[in-house]
Amino acid sequence: MSKRENRLSVTWPRELVRWFEREHRPMPWRSDPSPYKVWISEIMLQQTQVVTVIPYFDRFVGRFPSFEVLAAADLQDVLKLWEGLGYYSRARNLHQAARVLVEKYKGKPPLTAAGLRELPGIGAYTAAAIASIAFGEPVPSVDGNVLRVCSRLWGLETPMRDKALADEVRARLTPLIRKVNPSHFNQAMMETGALICKPRNPQCSGCLLSRHCVAFKTNRTDELPVVEKAGIVPHYRIAVGVVWKKGRILIARRAEKQMLGGLWEFPGGKQEKDEVLDETAVREIQEETGLAVRVGVPIVTVKHAYSHFKITMTAFRCEWLSGRARPKAAVELKWILPAALVDYPMPRATRRIAEASVIRSGKS
Ligand code: SF4
Repeated sequence: MSKRENRLSVTWPRELVRWFEREHRPMPWRSDPSPYKVWISEIMLQQTQVVTVIPYFDRFVGRFPSFEVLAAADLQDVLKLWEGLGYYSRARNLHQAARVLVEKYKGKPPLTAAGLRELPGIGAYTAAAIASIAFGEPVPSVDGNVLRVCSRLWGLETPMRDKALADEVRARLTPLIRKVNPSHFNQAMMETGALICKPRNPQCSGCLLSRHCVAFKTNRTDELPVVEKAGIVPHYRIAVGVVWKKGRILIARRAEKQMLGGLWEFPGGKQEKDEVLDETAVREIQEETGLAVRVGVPIVTVKHAYSHFKITMTAFRCEWLSGRARPKAAVELKWILPAALVDYPMPRATRRIAEASVIRSGKS
């Protein structure tokens, strides 16, 4: 690298920070970057886009304005406010982390990324984001967006999923972030990945990094970063029963350690080979609750994609025939009035079934 190139290569962090300070998008946690607000926003922003997060963030900090209030809240209320945002372990960990903070740290979070990582739900990226934005610690926060920008910028060919790539990017960014405002630098990198250096069709003509960018200069923006092809995503057919008994509906609460833990759903499960869907509903309801039911008409079929699999879920109206509901797969079963369905936190697909069930019951 020539002296001139070397000088140019170390000026881009400063230029990027200036650009961020001029052009950044207003967000509720940016106008008041208190540790609590930064924390909530960073947890919500994992796996979720800014436009989706903003209304959730506003409602959440309105209802739970501090670590203390969050720690004292019931987990069911926290999950209810999180409903629809997905990846519910984030909400459970956040709630747990608030309790640890209040009990062990007197409500004051550790000031460094290393200290923050001791808390539930805080990985390397989130710890660095909170420590840099809320406390000004010069540690690079490296997520998928930043890995993409840096792979292109420096022409790195290590696959995205390989931990060695994150290690290398962190090592290269660490001396650079020490020379600028760490909060603004990390946010500028994230913003560049989200708005300019997008996975497809990066906006190189408007990018401050283009003068230094290997991928741009060698016309390889569609080859970098190296992304290994994902395997085939499994697809499951699911049958669930909206079981009625004397004007009430049966719902089941999932164990907290399960996926979608703490949320409520209708009993049911995966279709087995050589089984028709209404048979699946009868079998699963029997296995999960001990109840015998008569299966009626299908109410609705919903499709949903999770991170590692997809489902097509058909809900049947069912009538209770015999038996006393006992939780076998779930941790709790409840017979509730249809109007109360809205009060219970549910996964998105289940919520659609609940809404369709209430509409149908109103018509019948
Ligand atoms: S020049 Fe293009 S490829 Fe390089 S960092 Fe900017 S947007 Fe990404």
